[in-house]
Parts: sequence; structure tokens; C-alpha cells
Amino acid sequence: MTNYDAIVVGAGIAGKATSLRLAQLGMKILHIAPSFDTGFNSIDQNAWDSRIYALSASTQQLLNDMNVWESMDQSRIQVVSDMRIFGDVSDKNNELHFSAYSATVPQLAWIVESGHIEKTLDMACKFSGNIQRVSDLVADFLVSADSVSVTTQSGQRFEGKLLLAADGAKSPIREKLQIETTSNVYDQTAVVANFKCEKHHQGTACQWFLPNGEILALLPLPDKKLSMVWSARPAHAEKLKNMSGEELCEAILQAHAQMKERTGLLEMMTPPQSFPLRRMKAKRILGPDNNPKVNPRVVLIGDAAHVMHPLAGQGLNLGLRDVATLGNIFKSKEDFRSIDDPVLLRRYERSRHGDTDALLFTTDQLQKLFISESNHLKTVRNFGLKLVNRSAFLKRQLIKKALA
Ligand SMILES: Cc1cc2nc3c(=O)[nH]c(=O)nc-3n(C[C@H](O)[C@H](O)[C@H](O)COP(=O)(O)OP(=O)(O)OC[C@H]3O[C@@H](n4cnc5c(N)ncnc54)[C@H](O)[C@@H]3O)c2cc1C
Repeated sequence: MTNYDAIVVGAGIAGKATSLRLAQLGMKILHIAPSFDTGFNSIDQNAWDSRIYALSASTQQLLNDMNVWESMDQSRIQVVSDMRIFGDVSDKNNELHFSAYSATVPQLAWIVESGHIEKTLDMACKFSGNIQRVSDLVADFLVSADSVSVTTQSGQRFEGKLLLAADGAKSPIREKLQIETTSNVYDQTAVVANFKCEKHHQGTACQWFLPNGEILALLPLPDKKLSMVWSARPAHAEKLKNMSGEELCEAILQAHAQMKERTGLLEMMTPPQSFPLRRMKAKRILGPDNNPKVNPRVVLIGDAAHVMHPLAGQGLNLGLRDVATLGNIFKSKEDFRSIDDPVLLRRYERSRHGDTDALLFTTDQLQKLFISESNHLKTVRNFGLKLVNRSAFLKRQLIKKALA
């Protein structure tokens, strides 16, 4: 049993980034997760991860600050220069178009494979002298006046000043603390797969709000490749997932009248995977409880604290802003404060509130607006798209938010 500054739980991107960021600040980290292996083969240029993320500027900045961005294979990263969002009326003007050129920024986002980020973070963590790793599951933990002790499934016990839970949407640590959540399960499942396309995408990310309430996004990958995220009704998602490559390509081309014009013929590269979609927000992100007299020692990070619909491609970006904020708070702490000073964690809690609420609310409302089959709402949303598209001011405000 050794004493650590922080015990980080979970080896998703949020967990690995948390370990690395804090280790780079000189903190002694114990990282616990069932497995650290990503299974991602970055050498094979023909193998592409089906899980693709649109990364925002804040994520790129964090990865850059941690010297991770420069270690990533840039030939596997696609810059997004344009975004086009189509309403559910087949009218060429029924579209919202954002361009990096009009916004006078070099790019709107970056598209990167999940495995690629994880693998690069993993290598950086392995080379850090401040991180010790244990492949195990957290079975239990106990918060006392001056530390947290963690017991793993294999019976090992560790002690640290803080417990940082990046253990995903079903966070066992959040459950153990009995932190309440507000959540709803969407009547949609995301089906993801990658494709080769006949026409070059020109760095354009497209999203179609389909008349049946489903959402189809095609994100650009390097060369003539695309990644699909189709948020479909569960029964339809099941069908899409079980289709042959040819059938799925045909289903995409049939989904919208202008699809073939945009992509040309498609060829499936990776078999489809599916993810049920939900929204979740933890009512507290600090533990053990709400009592102001008890020092918080447990912190929720990433999907353990919040989960959202992927229509805005922001879930991971939000989680990595949790990591960046926590890192900045420790980095700029007053010399007289220890890292487990409750004032620091309360700062974290306060600063994450607004960002999380705003994003969860916006994505939830957009999903509800576009899933509705009411004619009244259909008119409102299609008129809204055109209206925003015509207003340079509104578009600038939206881009500013999206680029955060
Ligand atoms: C279809 C889809 C598309 C998406 N697209 C985007 C996008 O374009 N942009 C974006 O920003 N976000 C996107 N997201 C959201 C993004 O996938 C998540 O926000 C992100 O993966 C969450 O990462 P995490 O590290 O917080 O959690 P996870 O990746 O779930 O990691 C949790 C970790 O905790 C570990 N763990 C669990 N229990 C224990 C335990 N008891 N002990 C130890 N370890 C434990 C698990 O093994 C795992 O390693 C998308 C999501 C979906 C479903």
C-alpha cells in the first residue's frame, strides 16, 4: 500500500488524459482499469477504427499541451473545413452551412479515430515516471478524513488523497456514492461504420435530419473515406447493423435525395457497430456526500458525470474540458493549498456547471425538435435552419460556441 496524490479509475480517453495531465504537473498517480490495451493498430493503414470523434479546439489544445497531438499520426487525422446540416424537406435551400473560410479560422474541427487518440495517450502514460498502472477492477472504496482507500477485485488495497472517477456512463463509483442522476433513454441507437466513397468529401461534415426523425451524419476521413453515425430507431438500427455492406451502402444512398450526388458510390470498410443513446447528468460531481463539513475527495470526470446524444459530437470534448479544467486548477493553485484542499475541488465543481448544463440542454432540445413528426414543428425547424443560414451574425455566434 503506497500513498498516491490521486487514484484515477477508468482507461477510456478521459481516464488516460486525466492520469497524464496530472502526472505532468508532478502528481503521483495510480491508474486502475480492467485493461489498458486499446487493440488499435496504427501501423496498418487499411485498418480503421469504426469509432470516430469530431474534436473541438479545446480538445486539440489539451492534447497539444500534453504533447500528445504532435505524437499522433497526422495522416490519420482529417481537418473539417465545412459543415452542412440538412433539414427534412427536399429543398436545396433547406440547409445550414458553416465554413472555416467565412469564420476566418483554419478549421472547424478535426476527425480522429477513438483508438488513435487512446493509443497515443497510452504510450505517453507508459513513459511517464509518475504513473503506476494496475489492471484490475475497483471493487470498493472508503473515504476517510484525510485519504481514500481503494480495494480492487483481486484484493489489492491502495491509498490516495483523491479518487478521480472516469469510469464511464455506468460509473460504479458514482453508484456507490449514491449520487442521483437525471437521465432519459433516447428512442434511438447509433450505428457507426466507415466507407470508401467515389467522390471526395472536400473536408465537409454533413448531417441530415431525416423525415422519419432519424439523424444521419457522414464525417470526412482522410482521402476518399467517410465515417457514418446513423441515429436510428432501435428496430431500424438493428436492421442496419445486420445488413451486408452492399445493402447498407444502398440504404445510405436512399436516405436522402441528394446523397448520391454528394458521395457517389460507397463501399463499406468496417462492419457496423451500434450504441444505444441516452442523456445523463449526475446531480453532483463531487463526493462522498453533499455535507459541506465533509471534505470532498471523489471527483466525477467524463461520461461518469454526463452523457449526451452524439448529434453535436460533443460528449468527449466536454469530458476532456473536465480534464483540462481540473489540470488548470491544480496548476494555478496557491502555494499554501494542498492538492486535497476542498476549495480546489469546489472550484472544479463550479466551473464545470455552466458548460455541462448548456451542452446537455442544447443537444437534448435539438434531438426532441428533430425527432418530432408534428407538421407544426417540421415547419418551425426547417424555417429555423434557413433563418440561421441567412444570418451571418447568428452563424458566427454558433461557430464561436462550436469552436470552444
Ligand atoms: C455513436 C457515438 C458517437 C460519438 N461521437 C462523438 C464525437 O464526435 N465527439 C465527441 O466529443 N464525443 C462523441 N461521443 C461521446 C464519446 O464517445 C464519450 O463521451 C467518450 O467515449 C467517454 O469517454 P470516457 O473515458 O469518459 O468513458 P469510457 O470510454 O466509457 O471509459 C470508461 C472506463 O472505465 C472503466 N471502468 C468501468 N468500471 C470500472 C471499475 N469498476 N474499475 C476500473 N475501471 C472501470 C472501463 O473499463 C473504461 O475503461 C460519441 C458517442 C457515441 C455513442
